[in-house]
Amino acid sequence: MSQKPSLPRARKRFGQHFLVDTQVLEAIAALGTKDQAENDRVIEIGPGRGALTRPLLSHVDRLVAIEIDRDLVAYLRENLTDHKLHLIEGDVLSVDLDALAADEGASRLLVVGNLPYNISAPVLFKLRDHAHLVRRAVLTLQREVAERLVAAPGGRKYSLVTVLLGQCAHVEIHQTIPPGAFRPVPKVESAVLEIRFEPQRVAVQNMVLFERVVRAAFSLRRKMLRNSLQPLTDTLKARGLSLEDMAAEAQIDLTQRAENLSVDQYATLTRVIDTAG
Ligand code: SAM
Repeated sequence: MSQKPSLPRARKRFGQHFLVDTQVLEAIAALGTKDQAENDRVIEIGPGRGALTRPLLSHVDRLVAIEIDRDLVAYLRENLTDHKLHLIEGDVLSVDLDALAADEGASRLLVVGNLPYNISAPVLFKLRDHAHLVRRAVLTLQREVAERLVAAPGGRKYSLVTVLLGQCAHVEIHQTIPPGAFRPVPKVESAVLEIRFEPQRVAVQNMVLFERVVRAAFSLRRKMLRNSLQPLTDTLKARGLSLEDMAAEAQIDLTQRAENLSVDQYATLTRVIDTAG
């Protein structure tokens, strides 16, 4: 008699906490696959043992899943034989999403995943860099990270990633998930986040300059903008502007800190600098 392969043990270095709450899994799968357009392709990051992959498969005609752990890939290949599933062994951070979409004949991607916590920031930045391609992402993240992404200006949680993502996406928390819904049980709570990409949600012509302005401000987030924006003075000078001129035209108070400016105000600062001279 052939023996079923045993479940590969959870690996800490790949952030493996497997979701075991079937109601939560079904809710994530339904949210992640809703409003599919004809040329959309659903991509799952980190299928693990297939807990989310199975409900996802019931909502799609085809699913691409990217898993880094070769033991889990082997396990899935033996245990989840569904012709709709295309499994890729690899690191999602190295996958060329544009090429993947082209290979799949897809014009937009819907990304779903219970993310390993150690790569949530680089995944978010990667998705932001592909805002033209990714229609929506439904991600399970550490609750604290998710709350940072929806934070309003003025508080400690409002940060670099809030502004960069807020420029190109609507971000919403759908539900929180207690540690007990995972095995092994993590130390922290999680949250299901929906990111709906809209590259010009807040209009910005010069994205490189926008990112420079925001990064400068948050690099010294406890300092006043008068200090944190100093790295921009050469660029301003070349355009015949001082920090004070820029602030006056953008109607921004330089005694404020990075966390006090809205995404629109960062966009205004960028436009003032970009159109000067
Ligand atoms: N989706 C499964 C679930 O909900 O039970 C597993 C979630 S577990 C939190 C994260 C999964 O992502 C693991 O299977 C892990 O091996 C995989 N993973 C970790 N780093 C990865 C990477 N860089 N690229 C692709 N998959 C990764």
